[in-house]
Amino acid sequence: MSSTDFPARLTEALGPDTVLTAPDDIAPWLADWRGIYRGHAQAVVRPRTVDEVSRALALCQQAGVPVVPRGGNTGLCGGATPDSQPVNVVLSLDRMNAVRSLDTIANTMVAEAGCILGNLRRTAAEANRLLPLSLAAEDSCQIGGNLSTNAGGVNVVRYGMTRELVLGVEAVLPNGEVFNGLRTLRKDNTGYDLKQLLIGAEGTLGVITAASLRLFPRADTRSVVLAAVESPRQALELFELLFERCGARVQAYEFFTSACVDLVLAHAAGVQEPFAQRYPSYVLMELADSTDEAALNALLEQVIGDALERELCLDAVVSASLAQLHALWKLREEISEAQRADGPHLKHDISLPIEQIPAFMVSMEARLRARSAEIRPFIFGHFGDGNLHYNLSRPAGAERDWAATQGEAFTDEVLDEVVRYGGSISAEHGIGQLKRDTFLHTKDPLELRLMREIKRVFDPAGIMNPGKLL
Ligand SMILES: Cc1cc2nc3c(=O)[nH]c(=O)nc-3n(C[C@H](O)[C@H](O)[C@H](O)COP(=O)(O)OP(=O)(O)OC[C@H]3O[C@@H](n4cnc5c(N)ncnc54)[C@H](O)[C@@H]3O)c2cc1C
Repeated sequence: MSSTDFPARLTEALGPDTVLTAPDDIAPWLADWRGIYRGHAQAVVRPRTVDEVSRALALCQQAGVPVVPRGGNTGLCGGATPDSQPVNVVLSLDRMNAVRSLDTIANTMVAEAGCILGNLRRTAAEANRLLPLSLAAEDSCQIGGNLSTNAGGVNVVRYGMTRELVLGVEAVLPNGEVFNGLRTLRKDNTGYDLKQLLIGAEGTLGVITAASLRLFPRADTRSVVLAAVESPRQALELFELLFERCGARVQAYEFFTSACVDLVLAHAAGVQEPFAQRYPSYVLMELADSTDEAALNALLEQVIGDALERELCLDAVVSASLAQLHALWKLREEISEAQRADGPHLKHDISLPIEQIPAFMVSMEARLRARSAEIRPFIFGHFGDGNLHYNLSRPAGAERDWAATQGEAFTDEVLDEVVRYGGSISAEHGIGQLKRDTFLHTKDPLELRLMREIKRVFDPAGIMNPGKLL
C-alpha cells in the first residue's frame, strides 16, 4: 500500500471524526511541550475505545507504519513527538478519559489512559481517598503518560514511583491484540509481571489504554519546615533523623542551594527571603497525616529542636499557617520557572545512591570548575529519594547560545560523574529522544540486549515509537 492510501484506509476503518489528516489539523500534535522537537506525521488518530485503538494499531502494523503514542505532551524528553519520517501516525489517548470504577473497600481506581492526573486526584479525594502521584504538570499530563514514563513527583519518598502505584494495566499490542492485565489484586504471584514491562516503556512496546491504581487514606493535615543546612552531608544526617522519628509521615524532603533562592527572589513574585541571614543550602520537609494539626506540628518542632541541638541544621522555620506553608513551598516550586526566566540552561535529572550525594556534590563541582570557573550550577530536587536536578546556567559573560554551542561538554561531565557514582542519568523524566544516545552508551550491554529482545517480542515489526529509548 502506498503511504498516500494509508490515511484514507484509517479514515475508512475509524471514521473521519477519529482521524485527522489536514496539515493544519495535525500541526499542534507535532511538537513537544518545550518547543525543542518538531516532527512529521501523515495522520493523528484520536480513538474513543480500546477496539478503535486495536483496529488502528493492526492497520499500522500491516502497513509497517510507525506509531507515536501521545498523552498530555508534558514529557521533557521528546518521547511523544514524532521523528522526521512523514509516514508517522500519532495516536492520542485524549478521548479515552473515563474512570471505569472506584472501590473504597479494595482502595482501587480503574481509569482510562487519557484521564488527566489532576482530575483523577480530585475524583479520589471526593471519595475520601488519596491518589498520591503528584507533579507540577498534573493538570495537563495523562495517567497513560505517567505510566509510560514511570513518573515520580514530590511524594515518591513516601509512596514510591508510578510503578509502585499500579495494580494492573490494559494495553493494545502493535498487532492489535489486547493485553488484558487490568487486575486489582494486591497479591498475584503468577509468573513474570508483564505490566511492569509496559510501565516506563515510553510507548515503545504498545499503547496503554487503562490502569488500575492503588488508593490510600487521605492525609490532609500537613506540616512543613524549612531548615537551613551547612552542606549536603548535614541534609543527609537530618533526613536520617527525620525518617527515624516521623517514619511514614515524611511526605517530601526537598533540597535547594542558596543560588536557587537568589534566582527565585530575582524572578518570582510574592517570594521572601526565608531567614534574616543567608545560608549555604536549605531543605524543605513536609509531614502529612490524618491526625490533628497541633500534634503533627508538635512532632515536627520536637524533631527540629533535637536537630538544632545536635547541630544537624543551622536554623529552621515551621509553617504556622496554611499561607506560610504555601509560601515556603513556593521557594522550591518556583525554581524551574525562575531558571527559565534567567535564560537558556542545561537540565540534568539525575539520581544517586542517597548516601553518595554529599561526595558527588563535592567532586562534581570540582570537575565543573576545572572546565569553567564561571559556571553557575543550580542544584535542587527530591533529595529524600536521591533525585537531584543538577542544572547549569551559562557562565557570566557567555553568549546566550552557550547551552546549544558548549553545553554538550558540560553535560558529558555531569553524566559521566553520575555513572561513576553508581547513579542514573534519568531519575524520573525518561529517555525519549533527548537522552537516547547517552542511555545507549551508559547502560550495561546485557541489560540493553535483554531490552532489545523484549522489544522484539512485543513489537517484532518495530513500529512502536521509533527513535525513542532504544
Ligand atoms: C512543569 C512540569 C513539571 C514536571 N514535573 C515532573 C515531576 O515532578 N516528575 C516527573 O516524573 N515528571 C515531571 N514532568 C514530566 C512529565 O509531566 C511526565 O513525564 C509525565 O508523566 C508525562 O505524561 P504525559 O501524559 O504528558 O505524556 P507525554 O508527554 O504525552 O508522553 C510521554 C511518553 O509516554 C508515551 N505515552 C504517552 N501516553 C501513552 C500511552 N497511553 N501508552 C503508551 N505510551 C504512552 C509517549 O509516547 C512518550 O514516549 C514535568 C513536566 C512539566 C512540564
